[in-house]
Amino acid sequence: MDIVRRLRSVVLATLAVLCACGGERIALSSMPVPEIRVLLGTPAEGATLTAPDAWDATGEDGHGFADRGTNLSVVVRPGGDGILFGGSSTNATSIRLRTKGSFVVEMDGARRAYRGSLWLRQQSGRLQVINEVDLETYVAGVILNEMGTTAAPAAYKAQAVLARSYAYFKRKGDPSAPWHVYDDERSQVYAGITIPRDAGATITDLERWTAETRGVILTWKGEPFPTYYASTCGGHTTEASTARLDAAGASPIFLGVPCGYCAPSKYYTWSKAVAVQDLADALKSRGVSPPISRLEWSKVGKGGWVAEVTVTYGPKGAKKVVPGPDFRSAAGLRSMRIDAVEAQADGTLLFRGGGWGHGVGLCQVGAQEMARKGFAPDQILRYYYPGAEFTRLY
Ligand SMILES: [Zn+2]
Repeated sequence: MDIVRRLRSVVLATLAVLCACGGERIALSSMPVPEIRVLLGTPAEGATLTAPDAWDATGEDGHGFADRGTNLSVVVRPGGDGILFGGSSTNATSIRLRTKGSFVVEMDGARRAYRGSLWLRQQSGRLQVINEVDLETYVAGVILNEMGTTAAPAAYKAQAVLARSYAYFKRKGDPSAPWHVYDDERSQVYAGITIPRDAGATITDLERWTAETRGVILTWKGEPFPTYYASTCGGHTTEASTARLDAAGASPIFLGVPCGYCAPSKYYTWSKAVAVQDLADALKSRGVSPPISRLEWSKVGKGGWVAEVTVTYGPKGAKKVVPGPDFRSAAGLRSMRIDAVEAQADGTLLFRGGGWGHGVGLCQVGAQEMARKGFAPDQILRYYYPGAEFTRLY
C-alpha cells in the first residue's frame, strides 16, 4: 500500500542518517499494539456466551471466583450477589473471560463472534459486556461495517486508517476507562469477526487490508484527532464547527472540500415533506410552540451546510435559535445540506437538500467511488483531510 511504502521509505532514510552519525541501535517501533475496550450493545439483562476452545474466567473484586474448562456455554446475568454465571452466584461484579480462539456473544437479539477477551461488569442491575481486543483486530472488525459490503480494497484501507485513528484518539483521552468506544454509530460500527452474508469480502481479506495499513493513523501537528467521516456529503463537506463536532484542536483539517464523487448516490439529493405540526412538536422541548411562521438559515457553513436555524414561532413571533444538528433530528432530515424549503398547501414543509450524515471529514460514498476510479488510500485520505499527516504508531 502506498501509505505504508512511503512511510517505510521515510523511516529508512531517517535511519540511514541517524546510523551514520552515532551508530546507536534505533528501535523502529517501541509501542505495543494497544488494546481497545468496546462496549457491546447496551447494558443488558443477560447474555449467552459460548467458546469452543479452552477458556478461563476470573472474578476481579476479591471474592475468589474462578472457573475454567473447554467448550463454554453459559448464561450470564446480573444477580443480587454479583454476576450469575450459569445460574451460580459469583459474588463478583467484575469478571474477565479469556480464550485462545473466539467467543460467541448472544445478546439483545444479536449473535456475534469476537476475538480477544470479554470483561463482564455488573452496574446498576445491568450487565455490561466489554470486548477487550487489540486495535488491529478491532479495525478489521469495523471497516466493512462502515464502508459497505462491496467497496474496492483502497476504500477499506482508507477506512482502516480512519477507524484506527478514531479509536486511538478515543482511547488516548482516557486509557483506563471501562470502555473507549461503543460498537455502533455512536462511535464506529463493530461486529467482531462476524460479517454480513452478502459481504463481498472475507474476514481474511479485511485482516489483510487492515494489516497493509498496520499502525498508521492520521495526525495534525503530531497529535491524533477525531477522524470524523460520514456517509454522503451531497457535493461538499463542511466544517466540524458547522456540525457542532469537537475537532480537538484539528479544526484546520475540517474546512470542507468539494466532492463530486458521491454524485451516483441516491442520497446525493433528496426531498422530504415534514408536517409543520410535527416539527413544532419535535421542537417543543426547546420552547418552540405553534404556529411556526418562519425558518431562517441564520448561520450557514461551507458547502451550504446549515449550522443554525432561527425559528419564528407563536402568536407574537418569538424567535429561537436551534443548532443545525438538533434541527436535523427534530425534522427527521438526512442532512443539514439544505437547498430550499417550501410551504405546501397540505400543511407540510417540503425540504430539498443533499447528502446523508453530518458532512464532516471523509465522504464514504465519495471514497468508494475514488477507490473504484483507481485512487490510492493515501490519495483518498489527503483529499478529505487536507493537511493531515500519516503517523505510524507501531
Ligand atoms: Zn461526497
